[in-house]
Amino acid sequence: MRRLNLTGLVLVSLFLALPLHAPYAQQSQSVRVATAAAAPSSYFDAERSAADRITADEMKEILYYIASDDMLGRDTPSPGLDKTAQYIADHLKKFKLKPAGDRGTYFQHITLSRTQVDRENTKVSLGDKAFKVGEDFLPFGRVSGDAEGQVVYAGHGWVINSKNVNAYDGLDVRDRVVVVSGDGTTPPQGLSVENLPSADWESPVSYAQKHGAKALVLIPRNFERRWRFGANALTRPILTVTRLENAADDEDEDEAEAAPPKGLVEILPSRAMLSALFAGEQADGARVLQASIAGEQLKGFALAPSKLLSLSVKLSVTEASTQNVVAVLEGKDSTLKKEYVALGAHYDHVGTNNPGCRPVGDDKICNGADDDGSGTTSLITMAEAFSKGPRPKRSILFVWHAGEEKGLWGSEYFTRFPTIPLKQVVAQLNIDMIGRSKKAGDTNPANRMLTGPDEIYVIGSRMMSDELADKNVAVNSAYLNLKYNYHYDEPNDPERLFYRSDHFNYAKHGVPIIFFFDGVHEDYHRPTDSPDKIDYQKMQSVARTIFILASELANAPTRPVVDKQIPAEQMAR
Ligand SMILES: [Zn+2]
Repeated sequence: MRRLNLTGLVLVSLFLALPLHAPYAQQSQSVRVATAAAAPSSYFDAERSAADRITADEMKEILYYIASDDMLGRDTPSPGLDKTAQYIADHLKKFKLKPAGDRGTYFQHITLSRTQVDRENTKVSLGDKAFKVGEDFLPFGRVSGDAEGQVVYAGHGWVINSKNVNAYDGLDVRDRVVVVSGDGTTPPQGLSVENLPSADWESPVSYAQKHGAKALVLIPRNFERRWRFGANALTRPILTVTRLENAADDEDEDEAEAAPPKGLVEILPSRAMLSALFAGEQADGARVLQASIAGEQLKGFALAPSKLLSLSVKLSVTEASTQNVVAVLEGKDSTLKKEYVALGAHYDHVGTNNPGCRPVGDDKICNGADDDGSGTTSLITMAEAFSKGPRPKRSILFVWHAGEEKGLWGSEYFTRFPTIPLKQVVAQLNIDMIGRSKKAGDTNPANRMLTGPDEIYVIGSRMMSDELADKNVAVNSAYLNLKYNYHYDEPNDPERLFYRSDHFNYAKHGVPIIFFFDGVHEDYHRPTDSPDKIDYQKMQSVARTIFILASELANAPTRPVVDKQIPAEQMAR
């Protein structure tokens, strides 16, 4: 599971300011009293015997390989991740599952861009004063280019017609460099554009671009944090998924891969640069920065015409690649086999000596046994159990996602460019961290939220489909009766777990999901998340339960009814 990212942290503070979403709180309560409404199907006994093929011993063997030091923490992209992908594919071939990646393979190829700042050739100057990259400014976006112009400050830069908001009112931005309070794409607090028709509003970036501006100087609310993280970007290349960035339409792969990023050159200024830029103006640099950080609405103005800002941003972009691993077990019913029950896990982790992996002594390899070696392994053993029959009516789709830790890349890619029709996916069950349990007498505060040996967090099951949630409860109570914990089943939870793993992208596309998760623990994203710490009995119990749930969903006469959508404001990441 990925950490809360920059955007996530900003959203946390926004959400905390909102009242608790009462209807959801009530719903979570009702989950506890919802009991086995529907008894398991007539397939139940056969499903139980099939589930018995998922064993702790086999899981242990697989996980010790996937989470070994040889894989170097399965960073995306990395040779260790590729090796893991091949290992999964070798198993799938042995189980005779149908390849469902690109061109008859188990791999869905994902092209990545590696962007590195060319420090020598990245320069900004104001008249004859030169600013230094890394000290006075940082490239903000991923666009290379040169620009020069007089400077306009555009306040928060948003134009929202139906709300009578126009930060650009009275300002001419043609051939100018525009300074904006904000990151250019996130509306200021209280000015949401969710649910507004796109013709009604312009973001600061799109307005500037359409009206002939030359470049943007962005002062985001998380200015300090951007600076802390941005300095990293000068020494490490920034990785992005090429096709996700460029594809306006999802149709033409080749064109999308070839197009360089479009738009204006963008920079993040330092305090010193802001004070030089705004010296002698109606608001000085400190005032503009203060307003930007506070989200305060400061009126825009044109700066003295004598101030000419020149920018040269040079970024070098190289290609890299990774892959999702995708397979299908074809259903036996000639009609229902066109529908799929999706099982997902992420097989990547945070690598070795990365900023997201805190070393423990000399050990810098984050093995990711629980995160998400446990889900990866579970899916392999479930694929094997399914492959030995009995074959369910619907098809089963298995996706091992890459790049989850980088920002849910693999699942975003798969749901944007699915290799099977996504509308035919009746539910997605995401397994991310199910291998750890809290031992009796453990008082370590870092393990406070870790679930016990017979317990698992169930997240999001009731957000879109009561029928799916009820089925999950019914299967569990007729089978191993694990303790389902719904603590995180609350959209305003500050941990934002619903948004932090791959199921989120399926939910975004209207697929009802369930996320199974054991809880954050002392070894989360540390080299000590190793296979010797796994509770293999728990992993077996949880995986067997999910296996039976998937079988029940695959054999049900109808797909689970999606009876509600997640509110739009909750879906904005
Ligand atoms: Zn993680």
